[in-house]
Amino acid sequence: VLSVRNLAKAFGDTVVLRDIDLDVRRGNVVALIGPSGSGKTTVLRSLNGLETPDAGTVRFGAPAGGTATLSLDFSAKVGKKDVVAMRDRSAMVFQHYNLFPHMTVLQNVIEGPVQVHKQKKSDAIAEARRLLAQVGLADKADAYPFELSGGQQQRVGIVRALALKPQLLLFDEPTSALDPELVGDVLAVIKELADDGWTMIIVTHELAFARQVADEVIFMDEGVVVERGPAAEVLRAPRHERTRQFVRRLL
Ligand code: ATP
Repeated sequence: VLSVRNLAKAFGDTVVLRDIDLDVRRGNVVALIGPSGSGKTTVLRSLNGLETPDAGTVRFGAPAGGTATLSLDFSAKVGKKDVVAMRDRSAMVFQHYNLFPHMTVLQNVIEGPVQVHKQKKSDAIAEARRLLAQVGLADKADAYPFELSGGQQQRVGIVRALALKPQLLLFDEPTSALDPELVGDVLAVIKELADDGWTMIIVTHELAFARQVADEVIFMDEGVVVERGPAAEVLRAPRHERTRQFVRRLL
């Protein structure tokens, strides 16, 4: 589904990403782990058009049933149309949910499909209700975000991403803003999506969860990929000292 090569990004003099390579196969789950400030969020934001890398290429394969691939070369000038197309293929679930506070749950979910994808409103509503039911929020369609717990808001955040029918789901520390007792529900929803065959990249500090759902784990530190491999290997028997220290602290 996704192939990233030599992605690089600096903010002023601060180099945040150097030569990041990343491949995600259809149906696979990649967990991106690493210390705070290592660049994980910047990788996700680069794949969703929220950040413009200084160099590197991002290539999306053809969607299921489609033939069109999408290639962006950030070392050259990237057109706005390509960025919009990339945003269309990936959908982000944010750490702080980022729901529109003045809209109901249902309005939040159909906003993208109706405004961006020009989907018929009645179809978008039917699909939104189906997805909300799937995550246990059928009765919250008309509630406002402030009426929901953090865990419920994040499940709405997930439904909003699913409603866009992306090729790739991007989760940016989806449970780190939640009270501990609410984390389990959200992780269970993500696990179900993985079992359903969604392709995703998850930035997370929940290493036990990463071990359960991820096909591959990538450990980043200071803007580089230090180690990557099958989840069981990287989390159980890391090869690099930096990975070992990090994993030991969190598991
Ligand atoms: P965390 O786990 O804390 O979210 P992270 O691994 O996701 O960390 P990033 O958020 O990608 O790390 O940030 C990487 C580095 O880039 C940090 O040093 C951060 O301060 C810096 N950075 C991120 N965004 C900006 C920005 N808009 N302007 C300047 N520096 C930034």
